[in-house]
Amino acid sequence: MPARAKHGAIVVLNAGSSSVKFAAFACEPDAAEVAERLLHGEIDGTGASAKLVAWKDDGTPLSGEDLMAAEAKAGHDAHALGLLFGWLKRQLPDHRVRGVAHRVVHGGERFTRPVRVTPEVLAQLEALVPLAPLHQPHNLAAIRAIAQMAPALPQIACFDTAFHAGQDWVAQAYALPRHIRDAGVRRYGFHGLSYEYIAGALPARLGPQAEGRIVVAHLGNGASLCALRARRSVATTMGFTALDGLVMGTRCGSLDPGVVLYLAREMHLSPAGIEKLLYQESGLLGVSEISSDMRTLEDSADPRAAAAIDLFVHRIGRELGSLAAALGGIDALVFTAGIGEHSRTVRQRVCEGAAWLGLELDEAANQAHAARISTPGSRVSAWVIPTNEELMLARHAQALLAAKNNR
Ligand code: ADP
Repeated sequence: MPARAKHGAIVVLNAGSSSVKFAAFACEPDAAEVAERLLHGEIDGTGASAKLVAWKDDGTPLSGEDLMAAEAKAGHDAHALGLLFGWLKRQLPDHRVRGVAHRVVHGGERFTRPVRVTPEVLAQLEALVPLAPLHQPHNLAAIRAIAQMAPALPQIACFDTAFHAGQDWVAQAYALPRHIRDAGVRRYGFHGLSYEYIAGALPARLGPQAEGRIVVAHLGNGASLCALRARRSVATTMGFTALDGLVMGTRCGSLDPGVVLYLAREMHLSPAGIEKLLYQESGLLGVSEISSDMRTLEDSADPRAAAAIDLFVHRIGRELGSLAAALGGIDALVFTAGIGEHSRTVRQRVCEGAAWLGLELDEAANQAHAARISTPGSRVSAWVIPTNEELMLARHAQALLAAKNNR
């Protein structure tokens, strides 16, 4: 009797500075679509203090915490990922991991779609580290660790920049000398996997209007807006780095570049000091001096918390107007990610600020977190659509692996 054939699974990883989020999806080699999510979780922290928490797709907790606390003493990421894959094998005895999909923040000019990672690809992605110094190194460290551990296991890199690659030249360019642009200094845009997921989910919700002029508001710890026409990215608020545009949890969003010069020249901040200020100490946290977390700010009676939310909402309103102009009008506004999916107050205030565009909020629908939160008569419709970057990663990996099988 031949051994029982195993089912296939794709593991998706989002490796950050202090955590690795992971999920496993069932996925047969010749299937057109990935099947159900088998489990998901997170390794939080690094080294001996790393903790693994995980859940089945139905929300049942899986034990894992002790494993990491007891064994992750080596203090480096490779060890934690080794433990994760050992743990996955025990959790999913009937599944064989066919590939690993990674969220990689920057694909630069070259990578405008997901790619199977080879040593050459990895070297090219390394060269992009200066463009995303706080994210890219962690994404690549995870790829390297797995390549060492399981050299034959296919790894697929999916990029946050890729979805915006088709924008017009004017949407991508800064008015800097041409040779600076030629050196790669241009707008790239981020949150592309989220926008790609939403673009795919629009027809089922909006019908024919899905092909119209739509602004998607991805409001999480990182936050940006993306203008879609015919479900393609036309403009977005993030630029060369993920600092630009909206106020975020700890990032400043749009800033007069003169401020950076002033910080350096008059306040004697080093490049590293400015980087820390703009990425980690600004945004909701910097303005409120309380928290980067919207829930905490909404629950606070401190006027600084209210001021931070005011600024957050004000900036969304201004950028929304700018993207509506880029689109030549707007047919629908979509909210997604942590704040967009859960904060009734932020959605209400953004929609009220967009009344001039023809958006009329249905307050009861907004309170109920309904899918459509604009009135039936509203000229511009408003929606709440939960994003799913993990599923996007799994789909890309499945598509690349299937293409290889069919060659
Ligand atoms: P990330 O960008 O790290 O993936 P998320 O998309 O999970 O983050 O968004 C995190 C943000 O969502 C935090 O500011 C958090 O406070 C906010 N958030 C989550 N749930 C709620 C809620 N019920 N009300 C208001 N804000 C919320």
